[in-house]
Amino acid sequence: QPIILPRDQHGISRKQIDEDSLKVLYRLHRNKHLAYLVGGSVRDLLLGRQPKDFDIGTDATPAEVRRLFRNCFLVGKRFRLAHIRFKGNKLIEVATFRRHPRKDELPEDPDEHFHFVQNVFGTPREDAYRRDFTINALFYNIADFSVIDHVGGLEDLRAKRIRMIGDPLVRFEEDPVRMLRALEFAARLDFTLDPAILDGIEEKKELIATAAPARIREEILELYRHKVAGPVLKHCRELGMLPHLLAGYPGTDESIELISKIDQRTASGKPIEEGFAIAALYLRLFMDSCPPSPQVPITEALHKANEIIIPHCRYFSIAQGIRHQARELLVGCFRLARGRGIRGERRFLQHPFTPQSFELFSLWAEVRPDLKALVKEWQNALQKPTSEKEPTRRKPR
Ligand code: ATP
Ligand code: MG
Repeated sequence: QPIILPRDQHGISRKQIDEDSLKVLYRLHRNKHLAYLVGGSVRDLLLGRQPKDFDIGTDATPAEVRRLFRNCFLVGKRFRLAHIRFKGNKLIEVATFRRHPRKDELPEDPDEHFHFVQNVFGTPREDAYRRDFTINALFYNIADFSVIDHVGGLEDLRAKRIRMIGDPLVRFEEDPVRMLRALEFAARLDFTLDPAILDGIEEKKELIATAAPARIREEILELYRHKVAGPVLKHCRELGMLPHLLAGYPGTDESIELISKIDQRTASGKPIEEGFAIAALYLRLFMDSCPPSPQVPITEALHKANEIIIPHCRYFSIAQGIRHQARELLVGCFRLARGRGIRGERRFLQHPFTPQSFELFSLWAEVRPDLKALVKEWQNALQKPTSEKEPTRRKPR
């Protein structure tokens, strides 16, 4: 039996819930369907944090949801999820409760498993059990404004603890990305990890290399967006998972420190760009392989940067434009590290990537204080209005 917290025993009020999501919940409810807020939003509301999105769970099938909402379309080839569109490109996701299929129900082709697993409809309780962590499996019921807890998530929220639903070994085998998510939520919420999760990661860490690269790439970007890339990658490294996560990437204390500086930069309001994130991951490795000196030609630096970045970009199928940005930032840092007064400096100062290279280099100089003097020198050059020199062609950014 689930624990049910009535409306007067928890802090969630409808005022905190997105208006359009409320409309969707109410309409499902009026049409005799179960309608819950699910997943991260309930967790965040109970913690007094602003949820990123308000996902909805229901016992209505996707087709039934579709019939109830004019502005609704179903997405996913096999995974049929309802998206309801509102003003300003806003999307609200409505998912039918699902369950974990039994072994004998699985299709023969293992490649089909992932999609199949996503698609078997079930009860709310079964839906809670297929989720990853107890704190991510709470429901807010629009019928009576109660919070429903099938998995002990309320207690774990109070104890500030990330606990797996079920046996971590089994759940990590099903989906290794959960190992990374565990570390991510622990860092984001400042919760402790249940020892069983840590033991599980210790035992299953190699499996992360078998996860779909596209999913890893997305989760890594999430780390950066949530400003926990530094601590989480550090933790990955301590647990020995980092090279399995990033296609052999060793990581160093200094790289991790640099990434933490980027988290601070993001916290101060600068959005993270993937090319910048990739350049940061590899800056230290690149600088080691290509020590900055006036004798080293730029073509050599370009070559080294490519050598380091291309395997990463291939593995994660990263688009040309992003790869180009990452490479230019590395080479830009190389030029900055060589110091001033080298041929081609004026063109370099006007190059569209230079301000961003300089930003990355300045963060790097916080890790390597011996570079601070160089930062000062360049700062002066970069601050001079370009009009003093010649008509500028610097692209607006
Ligand atoms: P946020 O969106 O703030 O990062 P979230 O909890 O909403 O956090 P999502 O990645 O948006 O996380 O996923 C939504 C919900 O789907 C989660 O709360 C969890 O219940 C479930 N979920 C997501 N990924 C997995 C997974 N790999 N295994 C099992 N359940 C998952
Ligand atoms: Mg979410």
